[in-house]
Amino acid sequence: MINLLNLAPEEANQTLVAFMAEAGEPAYRARQIVHRLWQHPASDFDEMNDLPLGLRQQLAERFTMPRLMVDTHQQSSDGTQKFLFRLSDGQAIETVAIPDGKRLTLCISSQAGCALQCAFCATGAMGFAHNLEPFEIAGQVRELAMRDPALRPTNIVFMGMGEPLMNWKAVDPTLSILNTPDGFGIGARHITVSTVGVLPGIVALGERPEQFRLAISIHAPTDELRRSLMPVNLKYPLAEVIEAAREFARRVTFEYVMLGGVNDAAEQAAALARLAKDCGAFVNLIPLHPGGAGSFVPSPAAVIRRFSGDLRRANVEVAVRKSRGLDIAAACGQLRVERLRRRAPVGAHEHGDVQVAQGIGTLLDPRPA
Ligand code: SAH
Repeated sequence: MINLLNLAPEEANQTLVAFMAEAGEPAYRARQIVHRLWQHPASDFDEMNDLPLGLRQQLAERFTMPRLMVDTHQQSSDGTQKFLFRLSDGQAIETVAIPDGKRLTLCISSQAGCALQCAFCATGAMGFAHNLEPFEIAGQVRELAMRDPALRPTNIVFMGMGEPLMNWKAVDPTLSILNTPDGFGIGARHITVSTVGVLPGIVALGERPEQFRLAISIHAPTDELRRSLMPVNLKYPLAEVIEAAREFARRVTFEYVMLGGVNDAAEQAAALARLAKDCGAFVNLIPLHPGGAGSFVPSPAAVIRRFSGDLRRANVEVAVRKSRGLDIAAACGQLRVERLRRRAPVGAHEHGDVQVAQGIGTLLDPRPA
């Protein structure tokens, strides 16, 4: 069986053209089916009633189009919606939909859990389960589009659970599905891959001809502090990450989560400004979303203002992200934690399985700092 939702649309088309030739059907049938993968998603072959019944049955014997199950759905008073999908192996992943005017940004997951253990992040605390396949990454977008056409996104950020550049094998075709007109047709500049700085992945992303955006989680301006917050800094130290950002084909964004009393001092702003100027990065300051991990506290608003002012005076472009969905535990990962706790209040044995997630419920839409 071939899972059509694991293939980039062009590859799915070629596979289906070959199948049609074998089945003695006209080649244009392949396009009809590709159209029902992402653009006008069908829940199964039976629903493709512009195809002859016999052909639909033959397709079902050779191909699959697996659905994802929505386990939980929450809506914030600010319009942010959060979905918890249950995978076939019982793992759960999260997707957040953030409306802002005419824009709808989906924050999607690329792994179940995460191996990176960033000190402030809910997912890291719980470990890595497995890489998602393309049908599970792009499937998050597909399911929401099937649920409600108003949930078709204009923008995508890989800022849900997991490290996308540690799953490049699946993220690579997923980018094609999201971007190509035969898929979701979302402009590459509206698709952002967020990474802790996995160097081979940054190179691979930069080699793609499309203008996909790259965001790098910096979070600390010195190796010493960054190592303590992000163990991955041992493998990919700051200087190499900055070098990769400089060599990246397009301008990158730094993400910098504001941790009260930890990384928000004036000399840290100065050091961060040097790094940003070194590679021409734009800086996004992220208010810490409560309920991540560790005993961190958010930097006070006045401190964030001062910090962003310091950066701006050093000629670095900077924005402060708005927090969204605070009332629904919208920081990616938090819903899963909450849900598992509710189900198993005894909890201790389950804790090891609560892998959840990253940062941010706060996504995007920088407002001028
Ligand atoms: N692994 C990737 C993408 C997922 S996380 C990465 O680290 O970039 C997306 C962003 O959310 C990262 O910048 C991450 O550091 C941040 N984040 C994690 N926990 C957070 C929290 N509690 N509050 C705010 N941002 C958080």
